[in-house]
Amino acid sequence: MTDSTLPPKSLKALKDANAFEIVWPDGLVARLPFKFVRYECPCAQCIDEITGVRILRPESVPDDISPTELGYSGNYALKIVWSDRHSSGIYTWDRLRRLSEAVI
Ligand SMILES: [Zn+2]
Repeated sequence: MTDSTLPPKSLKALKDANAFEIVWPDGLVARLPFKFVRYECPCAQCIDEITGVRILRPESVPDDISPTELGYSGNYALKIVWSDRHSSGIYTWDRLRRLSEAVI
């Protein structure tokens, strides 16, 4: 997989299911729990940039975590503002695609 991953056909935050529903151009539909996506945040506060080791501890992510704001970063990524006010993570389509394949 490369950064040329096509953007999702649709991406919704399902508040009732506490998950994102992502429909990919090839038909793959994935539900990614908010907590899982929050934990997979790729920013420098959550992952050590040099070692690649995750700094974020799972227990520090609230169970009721949810996105408060979704935005696009160019045409290659999703920017999520979380209810714990964390907002520095940029989720590229490539990353979301890999997460999607991990949960199905
Ligand atoms: Zn982060």
